[in-house]
Amino acid sequence: RKLGVAILGLGGYASGQIAPALQLTEHCELRGLITGSPEKLPEWQEKYNVKEANSYTYDTMDEIADNDEIDVIYVITPTATHRDFAVRAANTGKHVWCEKPMAMTAEECQDMIDACNENGVRLAIGYRMMHEPNTRKLIELTEERAYGALTGAHAYAGYGGSPPSTDNWRGQRDMGGGALYDMGVYSVNGLRYGTQMAPEAVVKATQTRQDHANAVDLTTEYTLRYPGGMLAEGKTSVVTNYNELHIEAEEGWYEMDPMQPYTGVTGETSDGKLLGPAVENQQSIQMDDDALAIMNDTEFIAPGTLGLKDVAVIQAIIESAASGQEVAIEHQG
Ligand code: NAD
Repeated sequence: RKLGVAILGLGGYASGQIAPALQLTEHCELRGLITGSPEKLPEWQEKYNVKEANSYTYDTMDEIADNDEIDVIYVITPTATHRDFAVRAANTGKHVWCEKPMAMTAEECQDMIDACNENGVRLAIGYRMMHEPNTRKLIELTEERAYGALTGAHAYAGYGGSPPSTDNWRGQRDMGGGALYDMGVYSVNGLRYGTQMAPEAVVKATQTRQDHANAVDLTTEYTLRYPGGMLAEGKTSVVTNYNELHIEAEEGWYEMDPMQPYTGVTGETSDGKLLGPAVENQQSIQMDDDALAIMNDTEFIAPGTLGLKDVAVIQAIIESAASGQEVAIEHQG
């Protein structure tokens, strides 16, 4: 049996990555569409063989509650819309997958978790790297403390180019645009899976942004502190390219470089072991893992509770950059 997935939001990531990846999955398949732009439906229906009866708009999506062919709604819309769409999805009684970052604030994340709990459905976040086989090798090195106790880490995730346009949600702070929400979440999440530790404070942070109302951050840099005193550096940008997760330990180091492109990640260790070769189709692996976790009633690799913790770190980074002060990070327990 395969779970039926309905994609909510037929934008760039849905069309470029998730729908194609759902053609390769073994335990779930694309069976439904939910869009605010119904003119997109005919092309999608034909390309992916989706029935008209499984096609919805934002106005009709609540009717999906009566559709037994759909098991999961995958929310792939701008970040500031995740909470409302995820809560509506949960209220239809379908399981919810939601893209990163989970939402704008820890409170919004909690609303999503509560809605899923109240409806008896599951909630997973689309952290594709956490499912990627070479990244899982890096996580194992940390879990085993293969190079001794950890002494430090850094995670850099950014892409180069022009500043995002203010016409697009990626150039609008209130929609969840900007380096920290869009790309910085990879560094925050990477430091979490790379160290398997929860940070206790943002020691310091800086953000550069353009000078207009609703301007997004173009680059953000931050330092996290962990219980015991270890520090980690994070850096993210939408105007400069970097892509690396590095873990330092008493007896060596290991890293993913690059840490998060779609085409696959590879890395190495201080004693010359390779974390490779690059594996593609991270999204297929992610969705199959999450489908199996639903069918077998086992833990998700990236549940909503984890997404909330990372959003709380993002909020503390923003607060620290604004105040110039150290900020304690909440919700890490
Ligand atoms: P996009 O702009 O290409 O598509 C967004 C879609 O949401 C569009 O179809 C748009 O019509 C729809 N939408 C619904 N409500 C909207 C609103 N109020 N304003 C604007 N558009 C609205 O964006 P995208 O690149 O597909 O990103 C969507 C989500 O996926 C974001 O949360 C992003 O962070 C995430 N994403 C994740 C990855 C990944 O590798 N995991 C990669 C890209 C994007």
